[in-house]
Amino acid sequence: MAEHWYKNAIIYCLDVKTFADGNGDGIGDFVGLGHRLDYLAGLNVDCIWLQPFYPSPMRDNGYDITDYYNVDPRVGTLGDFVEFSRRARDKGMRVMIDLVVNHTSIDHPWFQAARSDPASPYREYYVWSEDQPPDAAEGTVFPGEQHTTWTWDREAKAYYFHRFYNHQAELNITNPAVRREIEKITGFWLHLGVTGFRVDALPFLIELKGLPQDGQADPHDYLRELRHHVQTLAGDSCLMAEANLLPEQVPDYFGDGDKIHMSFNFWVNQHLFLALARKDASPILKAYAELPPLPAWCQWNNFLRSHDELDLGRLQDKEREEVFRAFGPEPSMQLYGRGIRRRLAPMLGNDRRRLELAHSLMLTLPGTPVLRYGDELGMGDDLSLPDRESVRTPMQWTAGANGGFSTAPPERLALPPVAEGEFGYPTVNVEAQRRDPQSLLNWLERVIRRRKECPEFGTGACTWIDTGRPEVLAHRCDVGDSTVFAIHNLGARRAKFLLPLSLDGAPATPGRTVHDVLADHRHEVQEDGHYKCELEPWGYRWLRCARD
Ligand code: MG
Repeated sequence: MAEHWYKNAIIYCLDVKTFADGNGDGIGDFVGLGHRLDYLAGLNVDCIWLQPFYPSPMRDNGYDITDYYNVDPRVGTLGDFVEFSRRARDKGMRVMIDLVVNHTSIDHPWFQAARSDPASPYREYYVWSEDQPPDAAEGTVFPGEQHTTWTWDREAKAYYFHRFYNHQAELNITNPAVRREIEKITGFWLHLGVTGFRVDALPFLIELKGLPQDGQADPHDYLRELRHHVQTLAGDSCLMAEANLLPEQVPDYFGDGDKIHMSFNFWVNQHLFLALARKDASPILKAYAELPPLPAWCQWNNFLRSHDELDLGRLQDKEREEVFRAFGPEPSMQLYGRGIRRRLAPMLGNDRRRLELAHSLMLTLPGTPVLRYGDELGMGDDLSLPDRESVRTPMQWTAGANGGFSTAPPERLALPPVAEGEFGYPTVNVEAQRRDPQSLLNWLERVIRRRKECPEFGTGACTWIDTGRPEVLAHRCDVGDSTVFAIHNLGARRAKFLLPLSLDGAPATPGRTVHDVLADHRHEVQEDGHYKCELEPWGYRWLRCARD
Protein backbone atom coordinates (compact mmCIF):
# COMPACT_ATOMS: atom_id res chain seq x y z
CA MET A 1 0.00 0.00 0.00
CA ALA A 2 1.24 3.48 -0.76
CA GLU A 3 2.56 5.42 2.22
CA HIS A 4 0.83 8.64 3.06
CA TRP A 5 3.55 11.26 3.32
CA TYR A 6 1.56 13.40 5.75
CA LYS A 7 1.28 10.65 8.37
CA ASN A 8 4.97 10.91 9.22
CA ALA A 9 5.90 14.44 8.23
CA ILE A 10 7.50 17.14 10.35
CA ILE A 11 5.42 20.25 9.64
CA TYR A 12 6.81 23.72 10.42
CA CYS A 13 4.44 26.66 10.66
CA LEU A 14 5.64 30.18 9.93
CA ASP A 15 4.32 33.62 9.03
CA VAL A 16 6.24 35.12 6.09
CA LYS A 17 5.80 38.64 7.55
CA THR A 18 7.71 37.86 10.73
CA PHE A 19 10.20 35.20 9.62
CA ALA A 20 12.94 36.94 7.60
CA ASP A 21 13.02 40.30 5.82
CA GLY A 22 14.95 40.07 2.54
CA ASN A 23 14.60 43.65 1.27
CA GLY A 24 15.11 45.63 4.47
CA ASP A 25 11.69 47.27 4.59
CA GLY A 26 10.87 45.88 8.04
CA ILE A 27 8.42 43.22 6.83
CA GLY A 28 9.35 39.60 6.30
CA ASP A 29 9.04 38.43 2.70
CA PHE A 30 9.48 35.49 0.32
CA VAL A 31 13.00 36.60 -0.61
CA GLY A 32 14.02 36.50 3.06
CA LEU A 33 12.29 33.15 3.57
CA GLY A 34 14.10 31.81 0.51
CA HIS A 35 17.43 32.60 2.20
CA ARG A 36 16.35 30.51 5.20
CA LEU A 37 15.28 27.37 3.35
CA ASP A 38 18.56 25.64 4.17
CA TYR A 39 17.91 26.27 7.85
CA LEU A 40 14.52 24.52 7.61
CA ALA A 41 15.91 21.66 5.53
CA GLY A 42 18.67 21.25 8.15
CA LEU A 43 16.02 20.93 10.83
CA ASN A 44 14.62 18.02 8.79
CA VAL A 45 11.35 19.80 8.07
CA ASP A 46 9.18 17.91 5.54
CA CYS A 47 6.49 20.48 5.02
CA ILE A 48 6.30 24.24 5.52
CA TRP A 49 2.85 25.59 6.41
CA LEU A 50 2.60 29.27 5.48
CA GLN A 51 0.13 31.49 7.28
CA PRO A 52 -1.83 33.86 5.00
CA PHE A 53 0.31 35.96 2.65
CA TYR A 54 -2.54 37.20 0.42
CA PRO A 55 -3.42 40.89 -0.15
CA SER A 56 -5.13 42.08 3.00
CA PRO A 57 -5.83 45.26 4.98
CA MET A 58 -4.22 43.32 7.88
CA ARG A 59 -6.91 43.97 10.45
CA ASP A 60 -6.60 40.33 11.53
CA ASN A 61 -3.02 39.38 10.71
CA GLY A 62 -3.88 38.50 7.10
CA TYR A 63 -6.88 36.30 7.92
CA ASP A 64 -8.93 39.07 6.26
CA ILE A 65 -8.32 38.58 2.55
CA THR A 66 -9.11 40.87 -0.38
CA ASP A 67 -7.68 38.73 -3.21
CA TYR A 68 -7.29 34.94 -3.12
CA TYR A 69 -5.16 34.83 -6.27
CA ASN A 70 -2.25 37.02 -5.30
CA VAL A 71 0.55 37.75 -2.86
CA ASP A 72 0.46 40.83 -0.66
CA PRO A 73 2.94 43.26 -2.24
CA ARG A 74 4.54 43.80 1.18
CA VAL A 75 5.77 40.18 1.21
CA GLY A 76 6.50 39.69 -2.49
CA THR A 77 5.03 38.74 -5.83
CA LEU A 78 3.53 35.60 -7.34
CA GLY A 79 6.90 35.09 -9.01
CA ASP A 80 8.61 35.15 -5.61
CA PHE A 81 6.09 32.62 -4.32
CA VAL A 82 6.60 30.19 -7.19
CA GLU A 83 10.37 30.45 -6.87
CA PHE A 84 10.06 29.75 -3.15
CA SER A 85 7.79 26.72 -3.58
CA ARG A 86 10.00 25.27 -6.33
CA ARG A 87 13.14 25.70 -4.25
CA ALA A 88 11.45 24.21 -1.19
CA ARG A 89 10.51 21.14 -3.28
CA ASP A 90 14.09 20.88 -4.53
CA LYS A 91 15.22 20.70 -0.91
CA GLY A 92 12.71 17.97 -0.12
CA MET A 93 10.08 20.15 1.53
CA ARG A 94 6.42 20.41 0.60
CA VAL A 95 4.42 23.60 1.07
CA MET A 96 0.98 23.93 2.61
CA ILE A 97 -0.89 27.21 2.75
CA ASP A 98 -3.78 28.66 4.71
CA LEU A 99 -7.17 28.36 3.00
CA VAL A 100 -9.25 31.11 4.60
CA VAL A 101 -12.67 30.83 2.97
CA ASN A 102 -15.00 31.01 5.96
CA HIS A 103 -15.02 34.77 5.38
CA THR A 104 -13.50 37.54 3.30
CA SER A 105 -12.45 41.01 4.30
CA ILE A 106 -15.30 43.47 3.82
CA ASP A 107 -12.81 45.25 1.52
CA HIS A 108 -12.91 42.28 -0.87
CA PRO A 109 -14.39 43.28 -4.27
CA TRP A 110 -17.03 40.53 -3.81
CA PHE A 111 -18.35 42.18 -0.65
CA GLN A 112 -18.11 45.64 -2.15
CA ALA A 113 -20.24 44.50 -5.10
CA ALA A 114 -22.62 42.64 -2.78
CA ARG A 115 -23.30 45.61 -0.53
CA SER A 116 -23.75 48.16 -3.30
CA ASP A 117 -26.17 46.22 -5.52
CA PRO A 118 -28.88 43.82 -4.30
CA ALA A 119 -29.06 42.38 -7.82
CA SER A 120 -25.33 41.59 -7.95
CA PRO A 121 -24.49 37.85 -8.19
CA TYR A 122 -22.08 38.50 -5.30
CA ARG A 123 -24.97 39.42 -2.98
CA GLU A 124 -25.63 35.73 -2.37
CA TYR A 125 -21.94 35.08 -1.66
CA TYR A 126 -22.62 36.37 1.85
CA VAL A 127 -25.18 35.83 4.61
CA TRP A 128 -27.74 38.64 5.06
CA SER A 129 -30.74 39.45 7.18
CA GLU A 130 -33.11 42.42 6.91
CA ASP A 131 -33.80 42.34 10.64
CA GLN A 132 -31.41 41.84 13.48
CA PRO A 133 -31.65 38.14 14.47
CA PRO A 134 -32.58 37.66 18.15
CA ASP A 135 -29.37 35.66 18.86
CA ALA A 136 -27.08 38.33 17.40
CA ALA A 137 -25.21 38.77 20.67
CA GLU A 138 -24.26 35.08 20.80
CA GLY A 139 -21.56 32.97 19.22
CA THR A 140 -18.79 35.44 18.53
CA VAL A 141 -15.29 33.96 18.33
CA PHE A 142 -13.84 36.93 20.22
CA PRO A 143 -15.94 37.35 23.37
CA GLY A 144 -15.19 40.60 25.16
CA GLU A 145 -13.94 42.20 21.96
CA GLN A 146 -16.68 41.58 19.43
CA HIS A 147 -20.19 41.98 20.82
CA THR A 148 -22.37 40.86 17.93
CA THR A 149 -22.30 38.39 15.04
CA TRP A 150 -24.62 40.51 12.87
CA THR A 151 -23.60 44.01 11.76
CA TRP A 152 -25.80 46.55 10.00
CA ASP A 153 -24.47 47.70 6.65
CA ARG A 154 -25.87 51.08 5.68
CA GLU A 155 -25.08 50.66 2.00
CA ALA A 156 -26.68 47.21 1.76
CA LYS A 157 -29.50 48.22 4.12
CA ALA A 158 -29.23 44.81 5.77
CA TYR A 159 -27.34 42.96 8.50
CA TYR A 160 -24.47 40.66 7.46
CA PHE A 161 -23.27 37.67 9.46
CA HIS A 162 -19.73 37.34 10.87
CA ARG A 163 -18.43 34.84 13.42
CA PHE A 164 -15.14 36.70 13.62
CA TYR A 165 -14.56 40.47 13.53
CA ASN A 166 -17.17 42.68 11.88
CA HIS A 167 -14.69 43.36 9.07
CA GLN A 168 -14.76 39.63 8.16
CA ALA A 169 -18.08 38.83 6.41
CA GLU A 170 -19.01 35.11 6.28
CA LEU A 171 -19.18 33.47 2.89
CA ASN A 172 -22.33 31.50 2.05
CA ILE A 173 -21.09 27.94 1.59
CA THR A 174 -24.49 26.73 0.36
CA ASN A 175 -24.14 28.93 -2.74
CA PRO A 176 -22.76 26.75 -5.59
CA ALA A 177 -20.97 29.82 -6.96
CA VAL A 178 -19.00 30.14 -3.70
CA ARG A 179 -18.08 26.45 -3.90
CA ARG A 180 -16.88 26.99 -7.46
CA GLU A 181 -14.71 29.87 -6.24
CA ILE A 182 -13.15 27.59 -3.62
CA GLU A 183 -12.44 25.01 -6.34
CA LYS A 184 -10.74 27.66 -8.42
CA ILE A 185 -8.70 29.01 -5.49
CA THR A 186 -7.44 25.57 -4.42
CA GLY A 187 -6.78 24.58 -8.03
CA PHE A 188 -4.81 27.77 -8.62
CA TRP A 189 -2.44 27.23 -5.70
CA LEU A 190 -2.06 23.48 -6.32
CA HIS A 191 -0.81 24.39 -9.78
CA LEU A 192 1.65 26.85 -8.27
CA GLY A 193 3.26 24.06 -6.31
CA VAL A 194 1.50 23.72 -2.97
CA THR A 195 0.65 20.27 -1.64
CA GLY A 196 -2.22 21.11 0.61
CA PHE A 197 -4.20 23.47 2.72
CA ARG A 198 -4.64 24.23 6.37
CA VAL A 199 -8.36 24.89 6.32
CA ASP A 200 -9.01 27.85 8.57
CA ALA A 201 -12.02 27.80 10.94
CA LEU A 202 -13.47 24.68 9.30
CA PRO A 203 -16.52 24.15 11.58
CA PHE A 204 -17.63 27.72 10.90
CA LEU A 205 -16.99 27.36 7.16
CA ILE A 206 -19.55 24.57 6.83
CA GLU A 207 -22.15 25.76 9.33
CA LEU A 208 -25.55 26.91 8.05
CA LYS A 209 -26.16 29.62 10.65
CA GLY A 210 -28.17 32.49 9.24
CA LEU A 211 -29.09 30.50 6.13
CA PRO A 212 -32.39 28.84 5.17
CA GLN A 213 -32.11 25.24 6.39
CA ASP A 214 -34.90 23.76 4.25
CA GLY A 215 -33.74 21.20 1.74
CA GLN A 216 -30.07 21.56 2.72
CA ALA A 217 -27.91 18.45 2.75
CA ASP A 218 -25.70 17.72 5.78
CA PRO A 219 -23.09 20.50 5.47
CA HIS A 220 -20.32 18.01 6.40
CA ASP A 221 -20.92 16.35 3.02
CA TYR A 222 -19.23 19.36 1.47
CA LEU A 223 -15.93 18.06 2.88
CA ARG A 224 -16.24 15.00 0.62
CA GLU A 225 -16.69 17.29 -2.36
CA LEU A 226 -13.67 19.44 -1.44
CA ARG A 227 -11.50 16.36 -0.76
CA HIS A 228 -12.47 14.83 -4.10
CA HIS A 229 -11.60 18.06 -5.89
CA VAL A 230 -8.10 18.56 -4.44
CA GLN A 231 -7.24 14.88 -4.65
CA THR A 232 -8.28 14.76 -8.31
CA LEU A 233 -6.01 17.68 -9.14
CA ALA A 234 -3.06 16.40 -7.09
CA GLY A 235 -2.99 12.87 -5.70
CA ASP A 236 -0.70 13.69 -2.78
CA SER A 237 -2.60 16.78 -1.68
CA CYS A 238 -3.79 17.07 1.87
CA LEU A 239 -6.42 18.98 3.84
CA MET A 240 -5.39 19.85 7.40
CA ALA A 241 -8.29 21.20 9.41
CA GLU A 242 -8.34 23.84 12.06
CA ALA A 243 -11.26 22.33 13.95
CA ASN A 244 -11.55 22.37 17.72
CA LEU A 245 -13.75 19.26 17.81
CA LEU A 246 -15.55 17.46 20.58
CA PRO A 247 -14.99 13.69 20.39
CA GLU A 248 -18.53 13.06 19.13
CA GLN A 249 -17.97 15.47 16.21
CA VAL A 250 -14.88 13.68 14.91
CA PRO A 251 -16.64 11.18 12.57
CA ASP A 252 -18.49 14.06 10.84
CA TYR A 253 -15.17 15.53 9.71
CA PHE A 254 -13.21 12.38 8.79
CA GLY A 255 -16.07 10.32 7.34
CA ASP A 256 -14.88 6.97 6.05
CA GLY A 257 -11.51 8.51 5.25
CA ASP A 258 -13.11 10.44 2.39
CA LYS A 259 -13.33 13.89 4.03
CA ILE A 260 -10.42 15.73 5.63
CA HIS A 261 -7.00 14.07 5.90
CA MET A 262 -5.83 15.58 9.18
CA SER A 263 -7.07 17.79 11.97
CA PHE A 264 -5.31 19.61 14.77
CA ASN A 265 -5.89 17.65 17.96
CA PHE A 266 -7.22 20.48 20.13
CA TRP A 267 -8.88 17.95 22.42
CA VAL A 268 -5.60 16.30 23.39
CA ASN A 269 -3.69 19.62 23.34
CA GLN A 270 -5.88 21.08 26.11
CA HIS A 271 -5.74 17.91 28.20
CA LEU A 272 -1.98 17.72 27.70
CA PHE A 273 -1.56 21.13 29.32
CA LEU A 274 -3.89 20.02 32.13
CA ALA A 275 -1.69 16.93 32.59
CA LEU A 276 1.47 19.08 32.67
CA ALA A 277 -0.16 21.41 35.21
CA ARG A 278 -1.19 18.47 37.43
CA LYS A 279 2.03 16.49 36.92
CA ASP A 280 -0.28 13.56 36.21
CA ALA A 281 -0.67 11.60 32.98
CA SER A 282 -4.32 10.67 33.47
CA PRO A 283 -5.90 13.67 31.64
CA ILE A 284 -4.02 12.62 28.47
CA LEU A 285 -5.15 9.00 28.82
CA LYS A 286 -8.72 10.12 29.42
CA ALA A 287 -8.63 12.44 26.38
CA TYR A 288 -7.48 9.64 24.07
CA ALA A 289 -10.00 7.20 25.53
CA GLU A 290 -12.78 9.64 24.61
CA LEU A 291 -11.65 10.10 21.00
CA PRO A 292 -12.99 7.66 18.41
CA PRO A 293 -10.44 5.86 16.20
CA LEU A 294 -9.63 7.56 12.89
CA PRO A 295 -9.97 5.93 9.47
CA ALA A 296 -6.67 4.30 8.44
CA TRP A 297 -5.46 7.05 6.12
CA CYS A 298 -6.41 9.96 8.37
CA GLN A 299 -4.28 11.56 11.03
CA TRP A 300 -4.19 13.89 14.02
CA ASN A 301 -1.86 16.87 14.12
CA ASN A 302 0.04 17.14 17.37
CA PHE A 303 1.02 20.62 18.44
CA LEU A 304 2.07 22.48 21.55
CA ARG A 305 1.46 26.12 20.70
CA SER A 306 -0.05 27.90 17.71
CA HIS A 307 -0.17 31.48 16.48
CA ASP A 308 -3.36 31.98 18.52
CA GLU A 309 -3.99 31.81 22.24
CA LEU A 310 -3.67 28.39 23.92
CA ASP A 311 -7.38 27.62 23.75
CA LEU A 312 -8.62 25.87 26.91
CA GLY A 313 -12.32 26.28 26.10
CA ARG A 314 -12.99 22.53 26.05
CA LEU A 315 -11.85 21.99 29.65
CA GLN A 316 -14.19 22.17 32.63
CA ASP A 317 -14.10 25.54 34.40
CA LYS A 318 -12.14 24.11 37.34
CA GLU A 319 -9.66 22.37 35.05
CA ARG A 320 -9.11 25.55 33.06
CA GLU A 321 -8.43 27.42 36.31
CA GLU A 322 -5.74 24.85 37.15
CA VAL A 323 -4.00 25.45 33.82
CA PHE A 324 -4.33 29.23 34.23
CA ARG A 325 -2.75 28.99 37.70
CA ALA A 326 0.15 26.89 36.43
CA PHE A 327 0.95 28.59 33.12
CA GLY A 328 -0.83 31.95 32.88
CA PRO A 329 -1.77 33.27 36.33
CA GLU A 330 -1.85 37.00 35.49
CA PRO A 331 -4.93 38.48 33.80
CA SER A 332 -2.59 40.01 31.17
CA MET A 333 -1.55 36.47 30.16
CA GLN A 334 -5.15 35.34 29.51
CA LEU A 335 -7.42 36.05 26.58
CA TYR A 336 -11.15 35.79 25.79
CA GLY A 337 -11.73 34.09 29.16
CA ARG A 338 -10.66 30.78 27.60
CA GLY A 339 -6.97 30.89 26.73
CA ILE A 340 -3.37 31.86 27.42
CA ARG A 341 -1.52 34.26 25.11
CA ARG A 342 2.00 33.11 25.95
CA ARG A 343 4.64 31.14 24.09
CA LEU A 344 5.63 27.68 25.27
CA ALA A 345 9.00 28.45 26.89
CA PRO A 346 7.75 31.18 29.27
CA MET A 347 4.75 29.00 30.21
CA LEU A 348 7.09 26.19 31.22
CA GLY A 349 9.35 28.53 33.21
CA ASN A 350 12.07 28.21 30.55
CA ASP A 351 12.86 24.87 32.20
CA ARG A 352 14.84 22.79 29.73
CA ARG A 353 13.64 19.50 31.22
CA ARG A 354 9.99 20.41 30.78
CA LEU A 355 10.57 21.88 27.30
CA GLU A 356 12.18 18.60 26.20
CA LEU A 357 9.37 16.58 27.78
CA ALA A 358 6.69 18.63 25.98
CA HIS A 359 8.44 18.31 22.60
CA SER A 360 9.02 14.60 23.14
CA LEU A 361 5.28 14.17 23.74
CA MET A 362 4.44 16.12 20.58
CA LEU A 363 6.81 13.94 18.55
CA THR A 364 5.67 10.55 19.90
CA LEU A 365 1.94 10.78 20.62
CA PRO A 366 -0.11 9.28 17.76
CA GLY A 367 -0.08 11.89 15.00
CA THR A 368 1.93 14.23 12.81
CA PRO A 369 3.82 16.94 14.70
CA VAL A 370 3.45 20.63 13.81
CA LEU A 371 6.22 22.89 15.07
CA ARG A 372 5.67 26.61 15.46
CA TYR A 373 8.56 28.83 14.34
CA GLY A 374 10.75 29.97 17.22
CA ASP A 375 9.71 27.20 19.59
CA GLU A 376 12.79 25.28 18.43
CA LEU A 377 14.81 28.03 20.16
CA GLY A 378 12.53 28.46 23.17
CA MET A 379 11.50 31.96 22.07
CA GLY A 380 9.45 34.12 24.45
CA ASP A 381 6.46 36.41 24.07
CA ASP A 382 5.74 40.14 24.45
CA LEU A 383 2.72 40.69 26.68
CA SER A 384 2.83 44.46 26.02
CA LEU A 385 1.47 43.74 22.52
CA PRO A 386 -2.31 43.49 22.13
CA ASP A 387 -4.25 40.21 22.07
CA ARG A 388 -2.61 37.38 20.13
CA GLU A 389 0.22 39.53 18.79
CA SER A 390 2.09 38.67 22.00
CA VAL A 391 3.12 35.34 20.40
CA ARG A 392 3.73 36.64 16.88
CA THR A 393 7.02 38.51 17.32
CA PRO A 394 9.77 38.14 14.67
CA MET A 395 12.06 35.12 14.44
CA GLN A 396 15.31 35.62 16.35
CA TRP A 397 18.23 34.79 14.07
CA THR A 398 21.21 36.59 15.64
CA ALA A 399 22.25 38.78 18.57
CA GLY A 400 22.57 41.73 16.15
CA ALA A 401 20.14 44.57 15.41
CA ASN A 402 16.46 43.44 15.32
CA GLY A 403 17.61 39.91 16.12
CA GLY A 404 18.80 39.57 12.51
CA PHE A 405 15.20 39.62 11.31
CA SER A 406 15.52 42.87 9.34
CA THR A 407 17.97 45.68 8.62
CA ALA A 408 15.18 48.29 8.78
CA PRO A 409 15.03 50.92 11.55
CA PRO A 410 13.21 49.37 14.54
CA GLU A 411 10.18 51.66 14.16
CA ARG A 412 9.46 50.21 10.71
CA LEU A 413 9.31 46.54 11.77
CA ALA A 414 6.13 44.47 11.27
CA LEU A 415 6.24 43.76 15.01
CA PRO A 416 9.03 44.50 17.50
CA PRO A 417 11.27 41.51 18.29
CA VAL A 418 11.65 40.45 21.92
CA ALA A 419 14.79 42.39 22.83
CA GLU A 420 15.23 42.14 26.59
CA GLY A 421 15.35 39.64 29.42
CA GLU A 422 16.00 35.91 29.32
CA PHE A 423 14.06 35.52 26.04
CA GLY A 424 15.53 38.58 24.28
CA TYR A 425 17.32 38.05 20.98
CA PRO A 426 20.76 38.85 22.44
CA THR A 427 20.31 35.62 24.47
CA VAL A 428 17.93 33.46 22.42
CA ASN A 429 18.84 33.27 18.74
CA VAL A 430 19.65 30.74 16.02
CA GLU A 431 23.29 31.76 15.63
CA ALA A 432 24.14 31.25 19.32
CA GLN A 433 22.25 27.96 19.52
CA ARG A 434 23.93 26.57 16.41
CA ARG A 435 27.31 27.09 18.11
CA ASP A 436 26.25 25.31 21.29
CA PRO A 437 26.04 21.51 20.91
CA GLN A 438 23.77 21.34 23.99
CA SER A 439 21.30 23.99 22.81
CA LEU A 440 17.57 23.33 22.51
CA LEU A 441 17.87 23.79 18.73
CA ASN A 442 20.57 21.14 18.41
CA TRP A 443 18.69 18.83 20.77
CA LEU A 444 15.54 19.17 18.67
CA GLU A 445 17.46 18.57 15.45
CA ARG A 446 18.78 15.31 16.93
CA VAL A 447 15.41 14.09 18.22
CA ILE A 448 13.70 14.89 14.91
CA ARG A 449 16.32 12.71 13.24
CA ARG A 450 15.43 9.92 15.69
CA ARG A 451 11.72 10.52 15.14
CA LYS A 452 12.25 9.86 11.45
CA GLU A 453 13.86 6.56 12.36
CA CYS A 454 10.69 5.63 14.27
CA PRO A 455 7.85 5.98 11.75
CA GLU A 456 5.75 3.66 13.93
CA PHE A 457 4.86 6.74 16.03
CA GLY A 458 3.04 8.20 13.04
CA THR A 459 1.48 5.09 11.57
CA GLY A 460 1.44 2.37 14.22
CA ALA A 461 -1.38 1.00 16.33
CA CYS A 462 -1.10 2.75 19.69
CA THR A 463 -1.54 0.91 23.01
CA TRP A 464 -1.39 2.64 26.39
CA ILE A 465 0.58 0.81 29.08
CA ASP A 466 -0.20 0.82 32.77
CA THR A 467 3.03 1.23 34.75
CA GLY A 468 1.29 1.66 38.09
CA ARG A 469 2.63 5.23 38.27
CA PRO A 470 0.02 7.97 37.66
CA GLU A 471 2.69 10.50 36.67
CA VAL A 472 4.07 8.22 33.93
CA LEU A 473 2.59 8.15 30.44
CA ALA A 474 3.72 5.02 28.60
CA HIS A 475 2.63 3.88 25.17
CA ARG A 476 3.74 1.61 22.39
CA CYS A 477 3.16 1.84 18.64
CA ASP A 478 3.21 -1.33 16.55
CA VAL A 479 3.55 -1.82 12.82
CA GLY A 480 3.67 -5.53 12.02
CA ASP A 481 6.34 -7.03 14.29
CA SER A 482 8.09 -3.71 14.73
CA THR A 483 7.51 -1.86 18.02
CA VAL A 484 8.56 1.44 19.56
CA PHE A 485 7.78 2.63 23.08
CA ALA A 486 7.67 6.15 24.50
CA ILE A 487 7.65 6.75 28.24
CA HIS A 488 7.29 10.14 29.84
CA ASN A 489 7.50 11.20 33.47
CA LEU A 490 5.22 14.20 33.98
CA GLY A 491 6.16 14.39 37.63
CA ALA A 492 8.82 16.39 39.46
CA ARG A 493 10.22 13.28 41.21
CA ARG A 494 12.15 10.26 39.99
CA ALA A 495 9.95 7.39 38.87
CA LYS A 496 10.99 3.73 39.00
CA PHE A 497 8.83 1.05 37.41
CA LEU A 498 8.83 -2.08 35.29
CA LEU A 499 7.68 -1.69 31.70
CA PRO A 500 5.98 -4.79 30.25
CA LEU A 501 7.33 -5.43 26.77
CA SER A 502 4.77 -7.87 25.46
CA LEU A 503 1.18 -7.00 24.60
CA ASP A 504 -0.41 -10.14 25.96
CA GLY A 505 1.63 -10.51 29.13
CA ALA A 506 3.62 -13.39 27.67
CA PRO A 507 7.32 -13.48 28.71
CA ALA A 508 9.68 -12.04 26.14
CA THR A 509 12.24 -14.26 24.50
CA PRO A 510 15.32 -14.60 26.78
CA GLY A 511 18.33 -12.65 25.61
CA ARG A 512 16.34 -9.97 23.82
CA THR A 513 17.54 -6.41 24.11
CA VAL A 514 15.87 -3.03 24.21
CA HIS A 515 17.40 -0.18 22.27
CA ASP A 516 17.23 3.25 23.94
CA VAL A 517 16.68 5.25 20.76
CA LEU A 518 17.76 8.68 22.04
CA ALA A 519 20.75 7.57 24.12
CA ASP A 520 21.80 4.91 21.61
CA HIS A 521 22.30 2.27 24.30
CA ARG A 522 21.20 -1.35 24.38
CA HIS A 523 19.79 -2.91 27.53
CA GLU A 524 19.09 -6.51 28.45
CA VAL A 525 15.46 -7.38 29.06
CA GLN A 526 14.58 -8.98 32.39
CA GLU A 527 13.76 -12.65 32.22
CA ASP A 528 10.09 -12.08 32.97
CA GLY A 529 9.82 -9.83 29.91
CA HIS A 530 9.96 -6.48 31.69
CA TYR A 531 12.29 -3.59 31.15
CA LYS A 532 13.49 -1.99 34.37
CA CYS A 533 13.09 1.73 34.02
CA GLU A 534 14.04 4.77 36.03
CA LEU A 535 13.07 8.21 34.80
CA GLU A 536 14.46 11.43 36.23
CA PRO A 537 12.01 14.32 36.97
CA TRP A 538 10.32 15.23 33.63
CA GLY A 539 12.42 12.49 32.04
CA TYR A 540 11.52 10.58 28.89
CA ARG A 541 12.76 7.58 26.89
CA TRP A 542 12.07 6.22 23.44
CA LEU A 543 12.70 2.50 23.15
CA ARG A 544 12.78 0.06 20.28
CA CYS A 545 12.34 -3.60 20.93
CA ALA A 546 15.04 -5.20 18.88
CA ARG A 547 14.06 -8.14 16.78
CA ASP A 548 16.25 -11.21 17.27
MG1 MG B 1 10.57 42.90 3.36
